[in-house]
Amino acid sequence: MPQAGIHAMVGMATRKWTGAREWLLLGAILGSITPDLDNLAVAVATLTGGATEGLHRTFTHSIFFIAVAVAVFYVIGTLKKDARWTNLGYGLGLGILLHILVDLVIWFNGVYMFWPLGGEIGLWKEYPAGLEWFYKFNEQASEFLFFGIYLWALGSWALKFGTDGEFLGKLRFWMWFEFALFAIFFILLLAGKTFAIISGGLYLVSILMAFFVTIRMRKTLEAA
Ligand SMILES: [Zn+2]
Repeated sequence: MPQAGIHAMVGMATRKWTGAREWLLLGAILGSITPDLDNLAVAVATLTGGATEGLHRTFTHSIFFIAVAVAVFYVIGTLKKDARWTNLGYGLGLGILLHILVDLVIWFNGVYMFWPLGGEIGLWKEYPAGLEWFYKFNEQASEFLFFGIYLWALGSWALKFGTDGEFLGKLRFWMWFEFALFAIFFILLLAGKTFAIISGGLYLVSILMAFFVTIRMRKTLEAA
């Protein structure tokens, strides 16, 4: 991480480069979100009592993951004779690359970007001392704020382009759900209470929601 919603909006910002190629922008946004889905593996390992070491910011944050994503969708696109799948793969590759670069530059943990070949790389290896509260704020509250802002941004595109109108009610529901979660966990943190497991579970729900809402709103992305 940074917050998954920030990554998703970085993906939206590639609109100027991705042009009109179908599913390319969709891929870039999904690719920007995908690396942090490794938190699902961390959750499974935690629940089953397995080791969580080496699961986050490793295999999904590696340049080899980019190569695999591009290659797999290139093969699918070729077999189906449908360039959209190939575009999707290029978009995923671009999005994952941007995710890795953003993680490298503006986060307090390194990234194993050459996994499985190399170790952790990053400008910052850990949170500086004295920033524990900021760490908790990021882990347990601010993710929800940025999911909400990402959904707001998607909604504003849909209104601008007149697309996905039948989905906007649900989109608004999820947006306010995320803002409400942010408010609740922020207030709890201010009161000195932390709920790492509950907020972690809601984070997983939220990142999956963001992933599927992005796919659902692909008409908007095509119009953008
Ligand atoms: Zn990440």
